[in-house]
Amino acid sequence: MSDPLHERDQTAAALEEVARAAGPYLGSLGDRPVHDHGADGLIDLLDHPLPERGEGTLDTVRRLLRAGTGAATHSSGPRFFHFVVGGSTPAAQAGDWVTSLLDQAGGLWLTSPFATRAETVALRWLKDLFGLPESYGGVLTPSATFANLTGLACARQWWGERHGADVAADGLAGLPPMPVLAGGYLHPSSRKALQILGCGRDGARILAADETGRVDLAAMDRALDEIDGPAVIIGNAGEVNTGDFDPIGELADLAERHGAWLHVDGAFGLFAAASPRLSHLVEGVERAHSVISDGHKWLNVPYESGFAFVREPELMARSFGAWGAAYLPPGDDPHVNYNVLGPESSRRARALPVWATLRAYGRQGYREMVERHHDLALRLGAIVEEAPDLELLAPVRLCVVCFRYRPPGVPPEELDALNAWLGAELLADGRVYAGTTTYRGVTALRPAMLNWRTTEADVDLLASVVREIIDRRAS
Ligand SMILES: *Cc1c(COP(=O)(O)O)cnc(C)c1O
Repeated sequence: MSDPLHERDQTAAALEEVARAAGPYLGSLGDRPVHDHGADGLIDLLDHPLPERGEGTLDTVRRLLRAGTGAATHSSGPRFFHFVVGGSTPAAQAGDWVTSLLDQAGGLWLTSPFATRAETVALRWLKDLFGLPESYGGVLTPSATFANLTGLACARQWWGERHGADVAADGLAGLPPMPVLAGGYLHPSSRKALQILGCGRDGARILAADETGRVDLAAMDRALDEIDGPAVIIGNAGEVNTGDFDPIGELADLAERHGAWLHVDGAFGLFAAASPRLSHLVEGVERAHSVISDGHKWLNVPYESGFAFVREPELMARSFGAWGAAYLPPGDDPHVNYNVLGPESSRRARALPVWATLRAYGRQGYREMVERHHDLALRLGAIVEEAPDLELLAPVRLCVVCFRYRPPGVPPEELDALNAWLGAELLADGRVYAGTTTYRGVTALRPAMLNWRTTEADVDLLASVVREIIDRRAS
């Protein structure tokens, strides 16, 4: 086998192989381990020298399915509580397949009015879901990291313009360092965005009131007074260790009083806005200058999906547009071209799974899912509080439960090692996945619930596997 032209009739048959594997695979996610260590050997199926003559379409797809359905981490199932990871709703998963089927160049209106319109509608629906003004500009990104990059690039452009500079055109040379202020909840991806933007990974000044990282508003107020010029505040809506929130409304007040830019990272926490019972957590987000979130977390669409919204849409084009290539549309093109509003150039029709899941389940579906996950987190929090040897380290705010194992009689200096051991045992067991972090200086577990498939039985299994491992140690 060599030239794919000889196999052009195999495409549909290859896709049918995938579709045939999908039913049993997806059906197994409910009961199989998150990671079956016994299947790791299948990964070797991928690894051989580059074939001189190809192995052919069908043989290759079958091999990929055999290795993948066995040895992949089954993190899109209901019991991957590690990090902050969602799954793919039925409509989102199918939307993603359609994205591959149609293989659009989704960055330019000219190459795909269809993908462009889908993105415009998906962004409008997302703004509606989150209570953001429709006038905000928006763009889909590959992740929250890229979305933070997008929002902070606009902040940097705005800040440069306040100094009479066009940073997009001329760079940062000759300008003072851009002042960036945040509480201790600042996510590493914002640091990474600042690093890429030439503002320095360690360029953010952290104003934390205590060891939890809670923002010190009075200190931020004083710092903004001292700066006496344009500055950027980064607020976090949903912190990864505990799910806690910066007081977004109060940060918005500070930003207004000092003429600062407020960027809000709501990678998963922005979804609190979908529930009337939780929306107070993000009150004020509609006053931010840039707001971002993730699609592949709580929206439950496949990787890679994030989005950024910016209050002043023209800043997006000034930050990312004006390519100046003769073959690309001019800056005054009446059509929207999403590749001049964000960091990517060529890109897939990322909107299709977003559009599909929002159409399929609507505002009500997302409200129910977010509230169910909040209930599940409260349930696990209650189980932890009732156990004499477990310690809840922070109140359950949203969908993350931060706790540790603290058996009586164990000296405090041994607890970190004990919890690291518990985290490693959980991963080795594989029935549920949850990992450790350091919170307030101690090693802790922080399972997060935001997969659409997750129910009470999955959370109870997490609790019982933790109990089993603990009992094994005692015996
Ligand atoms: C997950 C997360 C990010 C980064 O998201 P990616 O999609 O992994 O780039 C940023 N901020 C917060 C608060 C997050 O939870």
